[in-house]
Amino acid sequence: MNEVIRKLLLLQETDRKKRDVEAKLAAGGSRVDAVRAKLDRHRALLDEASRKAKEAGLIERQKFGQVDEVERKIRDVQLLLNRASSNTEYANLKKQIAGMGADRSILEEEALQQATLKEQREREAKVEQDRVAALTVEVEREQATWGEDRKSLDAELSALGAAREACRQGIAPTWLDRYERILASGRFPVLVPVVELYCQGCMMEHSIHDVTRAFQAAEVVVCKSCQRMMYAETL
Ligand SMILES: [Zn+2]
Repeated sequence: MNEVIRKLLLLQETDRKKRDVEAKLAAGGSRVDAVRAKLDRHRALLDEASRKAKEAGLIERQKFGQVDEVERKIRDVQLLLNRASSNTEYANLKKQIAGMGADRSILEEEALQQATLKEQREREAKVEQDRVAALTVEVEREQATWGEDRKSLDAELSALGAAREACRQGIAPTWLDRYERILASGRFPVLVPVVELYCQGCMMEHSIHDVTRAFQAAEVVVCKSCQRMMYAETL
């Protein structure tokens, strides 16, 4: 195989490894971000659930306070009963007590319903609290694992950077510049074989003239369709 093609393929192999490591770095970082985003979501849900539980507790206390208030009033009227000076007054007070008794029943019922609601809200808040606690542990674990992984991936990346520089040595600028430009444009692999007239990057058919030029490797031969550098091991 032509020497410049051999060197370019070595460079490309190094770049392939480098891209793999970069992809792992990106994926690892986004994995931690995803868990952290989930934690943030559940923290917000916990805040909301706690607020609702607190609100339900407040209303519950108000309702029971109203029950107490009515009971106090009933007791006051019962005291008046003993001092009633006429049957009419007595009957009126009795009627008043009965009315307040009915009010108390309704208020008691509402207070009990509110107590049930508060308990339900507290259970919901507890579920979120447990979820937040579990996710906090998970985030810490992910961060610790990821911290270790990242260290070794960073080391790998810098070793590949050095290897890449070594690979570049001795490749003529005409080839190297073209390689770097194609790489920078996001096409990978940069260098593709042409087999039986077909570019293996995009499967476009080429003339035997182009394939011969690629085989000789005296100049850069670029596929007209996918813009990659072509090389041929055979004619
Ligand atoms: Zn092509």
